Amino acid sequence: MNFGRAVIWVADSFYLCRTHFYYLPECLPELQAKKILMVKEHTRSWAEPFKIKMVELLKMTTPAQRAKAIKEAGYNTFLLRSEDVYIDLLTDSGTSAMSDAQWSGLMRGDEAYAGSKNFYHLDAVAKKYYGFKYIIPTHQGRGAENLLSQVMIKKGDVIPGNMYFTTTRLHQELAGGRFVDVIIDEAHDPESLHPFKGDIDIEKLASLVKKHGADKIPYVCVATTVNMAGGQPVSMSNLMALRAFTAKHGIKVMLDMTRIAENAWFIQQREKGYSRRSVASLVKEICSYTDGATFSGKKDALVNIGGFLALNDKDKFEEASNLVVVYEGLHTYGGLAGRDMEAMAIGIVESVQDDHMDARIGQVLYLGSELAERGIPIVRPIGGHGIFVDAKKFLPHLKQTEFPAQVLAAELYEDAGIRAMERGIVSAGRNAKTGDHYYPKLELVRLTIPRRVYTQAHMDVIAESVERVHERREKIRGLEMVYEPRYLRFFQARFKKK
Ligand SMILES: *Cc1c(COP(=O)(O)O)cnc(C)c1O
Repeated sequence: MNFGRAVIWVADSFYLCRTHFYYLPECLPELQAKKILMVKEHTRSWAEPFKIKMVELLKMTTPAQRAKAIKEAGYNTFLLRSEDVYIDLLTDSGTSAMSDAQWSGLMRGDEAYAGSKNFYHLDAVAKKYYGFKYIIPTHQGRGAENLLSQVMIKKGDVIPGNMYFTTTRLHQELAGGRFVDVIIDEAHDPESLHPFKGDIDIEKLASLVKKHGADKIPYVCVATTVNMAGGQPVSMSNLMALRAFTAKHGIKVMLDMTRIAENAWFIQQREKGYSRRSVASLVKEICSYTDGATFSGKKDALVNIGGFLALNDKDKFEEASNLVVVYEGLHTYGGLAGRDMEAMAIGIVESVQDDHMDARIGQVLYLGSELAERGIPIVRPIGGHGIFVDAKKFLPHLKQTEFPAQVLAAELYEDAGIRAMERGIVSAGRNAKTGDHYYPKLELVRLTIPRRVYTQAHMDVIAESVERVHERREKIRGLEMVYEPRYLRFFQARFKKK
């Protein structure tokens, strides 16, 4: 667990720290007050806790081939063919590499319609590691969100949460509810170095309860490592405070536990009193402050498909097990093949191992510190699943209507075949009333790291490519949108160079 010492440079002084990355309790006040310049060295290296048994060959492309491919894709990385991509950082969802144990689990699939033994294995593992009483498998996270929303939300209800997530909010709305953001203000500030930017602002929640009454709030939805805030964690003390507050008012707490192991790792690394605890025990403690959860196996749990709904309340469980038959399948398979449930059961156990998490987030932090050392503007603190490059600072000569993040993602592809994603004005869409673009404060390019897929050499190639594009940033021109779809335009919009 201990990686030796790290020298962390902050402004003109440096800090010698016990472990390998930023945010150690002892340096925290100083780090919050100043900007981190760089992480200089760690005296001992870490390496992946696995070796490679099978490889997937990648197509190597020339600059001319890439220039042609990105032009044909309308400068939209979603429209590239994946075989033309060298390093794919579009998402960490469903893109993990499974272990030999998981692959052999596929061969043990018990493809019975009812009562598959793989369901009982998944059920036992989920109960052991997360501590919930009842589990219902679903095809992926959003299937569980649908069930939870339908059994918990009445028309006119309000569901507070620590920042919205696309599918979660939509299912709450479809069930007649309304999402209200109660995350702390720091989460919306890319300059803030708050160590737990995913925390819920209990004051904001209290005034919501005062305004609407507790009976209009069926539950608070808490996400572990907040995706839309850049993979920022929630602290254990905040979860305890939330539990105490909601218990007083008879409000339930439901977890979006998609990246719970990553959140647990950050608690272990950053929160006072937890540094000697295992990720697995922290995961279970997080769950203990909640009443149920929706889970997407496509992130933490190292599988390409799968999810579940977890509940402690017997009546709600019975209602949801009845509903799942309508949307997903019988409550002992929920839209999954037996083999998928087996792979997820094994993946859950692998996902909470300390060695695995050290390497998983270690790789993300490694890339982040390589970029920071090269003077690339990135969002801090670095989150659990990717690096967010600040395209406004990277390309200050471009107006937001010239789509700086879209341009930067296209340039990275052209330079080295790296596929990233725009999270800026294109993703934000248009205001339906005025017809004008929304102008989000953040104009970001997301480099999302799949689990166990790429090596440190790939991370070096990414850092060098971003640096290369940064060196010639002044010559980079903006884009013009030539095709704009009506819904979720970022997926299919097309552009040309100005
Ligand atoms: C991916 C994700 C979901 C939805 O899960 P799917 O498996 O994609 O349906 C929900 N919440 C968060 C935070 C996610 O990242």
